[in-house]
Amino acid sequence: NIPVIAIDGPTASGKGTVAAKVAERLSFHLLDSGALYRLTALSAIRRAIDMSDEHALAKVAEHLNCSFVGHDVFLGQENVTQAIRVEEVGNTASRIAALPAVRQALFGLQLRFRTAPGLVADGRDMGTVIFPTAKLKVFLTASVAARAERRYKQLIGKGFSANMDDLLADLQARDERDTKRAVAPLAPAADAYILDSSNITAEQAVEQVLRWYAE
Ligand code: C5P
Repeated sequence: NIPVIAIDGPTASGKGTVAAKVAERLSFHLLDSGALYRLTALSAIRRAIDMSDEHALAKVAEHLNCSFVGHDVFLGQENVTQAIRVEEVGNTASRIAALPAVRQALFGLQLRFRTAPGLVADGRDMGTVIFPTAKLKVFLTASVAARAERRYKQLIGKGFSANMDDLLADLQARDERDTKRAVAPLAPAADAYILDSSNITAEQAVEQVLRWYAE
């Protein structure tokens, strides 16, 4: 029974950073499930697939030729670590993530990340749908303002340009889509610990998650 730590939460709540650090501390594998939706989006954009064609998008998801090497993400031979982080891809990912056939197509792929000695999985439905038997479930939240500021610093830090008002509007739109969609809507699992990271550092959040895991 390979242990899973599920870390779910809204966009820019810090779950990616926290999940990566927790995985590092425990020497566990890491699943950034959002990257799979982003890879599907990037691949679909490049093939000029009609974003309302659920069947075609599910096919793209099903045949994703992706790999994760350290902190880098590859689509075929191409390193797309930066390319999947741009806002257009994030927005498209959030749209196609509402399609049941796309979510279904990525289901099995996500399960395969559960390998010894353990997995830290971050996303929106890790604790509710993909790994309902996870040993620990954390729902990481933060105020919209705190998340917009974080996303802003993240983008600027990576050399992208960013506008605070656009980011706020975008976050709210994405939250709305993620929480209101019919399949796997963003919500804490009944047995999840809620962690508000608005006023704590990533390190403090990591320590809290590790304490819960050790309980
Ligand atoms: O977490 P990230 O921003 O990279 O995810 C991109 C999009 O993929 C999200 O806006 C969300 O709509 C979708 N997603 C999802 N389920 C997951 C992970 C991401 O629906 N488990």
